[in-house]
Order: sequence, then structure tokens, then C-alpha cells
Amino acid sequence: MRKQWNPDILPLRSRNSLKLALPGYGEGSSVEIPFTVFVGGQRDPHLLVISGVHGDEYEGPAVLHDFVQEIDPAQLRGTLTLVPIANPQAFHAGARRNPADLGDLNRAFPGNATGSATERLAHLLFQELVLGNDAILSLHGWSKEAAVVPYAEYPDVHNEPGGRSCAAAHALDFEFLHPYQWPAGVLGEAALKFDIATVETEVGGMGTVTPDGQATYRDVVIRFMAHFGMQDYVGNVPRTPKIVSHTDLLANSAGLLRSRVCPGDWVERGQLLVTVHALSGECLEEVRAPRAGIVAILRTFNSVQPGARLVQLFWEAERE
Ligand SMILES: [Zn+2]
Repeated sequence: MRKQWNPDILPLRSRNSLKLALPGYGEGSSVEIPFTVFVGGQRDPHLLVISGVHGDEYEGPAVLHDFVQEIDPAQLRGTLTLVPIANPQAFHAGARRNPADLGDLNRAFPGNATGSATERLAHLLFQELVLGNDAILSLHGWSKEAAVVPYAEYPDVHNEPGGRSCAAAHALDFEFLHPYQWPAGVLGEAALKFDIATVETEVGGMGTVTPDGQATYRDVVIRFMAHFGMQDYVGNVPRTPKIVSHTDLLANSAGLLRSRVCPGDWVERGQLLVTVHALSGECLEEVRAPRAGIVAILRTFNSVQPGARLVQLFWEAERE
């Protein structure tokens, strides 16, 4: 549990700018992780909104920087923790992974106090910031190498916290929701074992912060807080989402990627999606849709190597 701070001694109706220190990291120096805790007129519920788990996703950090300035704790019911950049070294490297060991932080939770650099970071975040919450919203932005249609993942787990995660995801007004059997080490996979409901969202991509992305994430965060009774939401009821599964299409060759579709496009089975070209210009491969669906993720960084994800299709698994 927590060693570096104690939420129980923070006063009601207070805004607290705090930092975690991860010592012995890199060249004998500490990594500092700033976070802000708002305590409202009552202490429950406890919600965590975290972003910057991957260092090349920026819509979440930007919107949380705004919320850190704007939220009035006197208007809140509960304790809200905002962590804009959970993985500072990956952020400074402009990379998904932690440059210290090339570990993926979102495959390392709940972490290990005596493990690799990434495992120790995961352990610190999990002990100090994750445990003790009722629910977590984990803001992602796919990666700098691709564009993504906005969507949310919730755990495809049929237990009590899984049900609360599903209900929270449905409150966020996404067009696409993806129930997912998260692999070991994903933040939500680890948190669920401690009865913490988790939703992971994907907005943006391409290493950008855009007005559309910010508007989406602003609405998502407010809806998340309202769903758990932390504040009121004045707006439309959430739309009925499309519940999707996905299919990844990977490169088999190295070369220049040329896209024939856009994110959000509906494509038919057999439709040409992208091509990969040799340095001479010769077409090395044509990637076609193995089934009808939506172009959910499209690689936008056009130099590719074998194994690179080029397209992810969404298709509706079932209608609710
Ligand atoms: Zn991510």
C-alpha cells in the first residue's frame, strides 16, 4: 500500500499537487511523477484517471493538464486522482516503451518492487495510486504510428468488477466498445483482481493533440465522474454503442505503405486496404479486408517492417 502519501489526511474540499519519486532509476537519480488529488465535500467514491502510460500518446495528458487547473474540489463528491503522465521517461523519449529497459508499462502491472525498471515503475504506480480506488479510467491514444477511431475497452470478465467496468464504459458515449480479455499486465487486468472497475479508452494517435480529441476526452472524463456520482452531467444520454471485436492485419514485407482507406471507413470483404512497395516502387503486397468491417486503426507512419500492424478492423460481434 501507500508509503509516499496518505489521502486520508488530505482535507475535505482541497486540491493537492503531489509527486511520487521512483528512486534508483537510471543514473542514480529519481524519476518524479506529478499527480493531483482533489478531495470533494465527501471522500467517497475514489476515482483515478491516468494517462501517459505509453510515452507517445498525448490527448490524455493534455486534457488532464486542463482538468488539473479547472476542477473545483468544492463541487466534487468523492476523491479524484489525476495522473497526466504516468511514464515520464517514455514520454521524454517520445516512445511507447520505457527507454530504460524497453518494457511496456501496460504489460507490467501490478509490477515488482525488485524487478526491471518498468516493473518497478508499475509497482510504484500500482501501490501508490491504483489501490484504494473504486474505479479507474485509463486514457490512451493508440500510438504515434497510427490513427484510431475513438473507442473504449472494458474487461470481458463476468464478475462484479467486470460488470461495473462494462456499465461505466457504456456511460461514456463512445460509438464503439470493445469487450476485451486483457493480457496479463494490462493495468485493468491487474486492477480487476482488487475489485477495481477499469475502462481503457483510445482517442487520437499520430502523436497529436487535436481540438476533436480534446473535446472527446473532456466529455469522456466528465461522464466517467458523473457515472460514479462524483458530479452531475448535463447533456445527452449516451448513444447505444456498437459492441465490437477486432482483426489485425500485419505487414509481411518491408517498404513504403500506401493507404487506400481512411479511419472510420466501412469496408467490404476483399476490399483493398493498403499496399506495401519496395524501394524501387514495385508493389510487394496488397492487404485486403478478410471480412467486412470498420477501419478502426490505420497506420499513418509509412515506413514499415515485417510484423508492423497496418490496419485493425472492427466488426460487430453481437447486438445487445
Ligand atoms: Zn497506449
